Amino acid sequence: MEAMLNTAGRVITCKAAVAWEAGKPLVIENVEVAPPQAMEVRIKIMFTSLCHTDVYFWEAKGQAPLFPRIFGHEASGIVESVGEGVNDLQAGDHVLPVFTGECKECAHCKSEESNMCDLLRINTDRGVMLSDGKTRFSKNGAPIYHFLGTSTFSEYTVLHVGCLAKINKSAPLDKICILSCGISTGLGATLNVAKPKKGSTVAVFGLGAVGLAAAEGARISGASRVIGIDLNPNRFEEAKKFGVTDFINPMDHKKPVQEVIVEMTNGGADRSIECTGNINAMISAFECVHDGWGVAVLVGVPNKDAMFTTKPINFLNERTLKGTFFGNYKPRTDLPKVVDMYMKKELEVEKFITHKVSFSEINKAFDYMLRGEGLRCIISLE
Ligand code: NAD
Ligand code: ZN
Repeated sequence: MEAMLNTAGRVITCKAAVAWEAGKPLVIENVEVAPPQAMEVRIKIMFTSLCHTDVYFWEAKGQAPLFPRIFGHEASGIVESVGEGVNDLQAGDHVLPVFTGECKECAHCKSEESNMCDLLRINTDRGVMLSDGKTRFSKNGAPIYHFLGTSTFSEYTVLHVGCLAKINKSAPLDKICILSCGISTGLGATLNVAKPKKGSTVAVFGLGAVGLAAAEGARISGASRVIGIDLNPNRFEEAKKFGVTDFINPMDHKKPVQEVIVEMTNGGADRSIECTGNINAMISAFECVHDGWGVAVLVGVPNKDAMFTTKPINFLNERTLKGTFFGNYKPRTDLPKVVDMYMKKELEVEKFITHKVSFSEINKAFDYMLRGEGLRCIISLE
């Protein structure tokens, strides 16, 4: 702790896992991390985990590649020092970095209904800080780019203050680090957007970490039946731990899966949550909900050219289609409450953690994800 206080205002040299090239293993390097500028905060990362978005941009198959870059956005840490104008955080505070932000000033932040901050909304292309268009990371004077404004695969990183949620100091950082992205996304899709009533039937499309977090939301809401739909039958065993009661593999049926669901539920699911990113699953998720009250929520990120087609009569028959970004949570306002749900034992987090590795073994976490093994791998920087 004392060593941390002494570093304020100075460049810190520390270890970071640098991606030098698309798809090549990360290399642990000594990098320089500049002090935080106005409205920025430098934090010490304690634990980070790997999410599909990191892997997707590391592979850089669909987008303009930006390298060398430090990936990582699901993490927990401790504030080391703060820049000018930062009043609500100080050295020693425990925080969750978030890939999207909450400036508290813009129309979105001022609206009760939105979490899509104008200033700090997710930007996957930007590799520099907002204030001066520069990086805070360098090696031998050459810049290393940021990712999602978080870059948590580093012992120290610099973020805009609006991308940090201050959390309960007694919360275990090695567990709650996974609440900073995927788990909150699925959980919030159910609790904040689908809002199933007690005793209802919820269909979850896609049983990855996000879909299972949506199922966890259904369990917390008191749903009596949770139908899991996935093309990969290996997901079903894991999903039992999350209270999923029925499983459907669309490949096992000749008719569209929405028809299978309508039949087995006597008219349709009360709520459905799509967590696949597949356009056909999105359409099925909408068409499988009950007329009169059914609500479908889209979470998965589709191919940019995908088109959603359905008959308008499906809407006229009083079905609702919604979409959500980060589970509708406002990062600074709401994430501390999600951590408290875990502390009060309302939310189960441990069951998402299937692997743990040390920072030097970070490439193993990529291997697990590429092989589709497990849900979340915790990378310890302690
Ligand atoms: P994942 O790859 O671990 O899980 C997706 C699952 O969907 C897999 O098990 C796969 O077999 C299954 N699947 C694919 N196509 C299917 C189909 N047609 N029918 C049924 N199942 C199908 O992914 P994840 O990490 O759980 O993320 C899920 C989605 O959520 C991704 O698209 C991701 O980009 C998105 N996401 C959205 C937000 C947001 O804010 N909206 C945030 C984070 C992640
Ligand atoms: Zn804002």
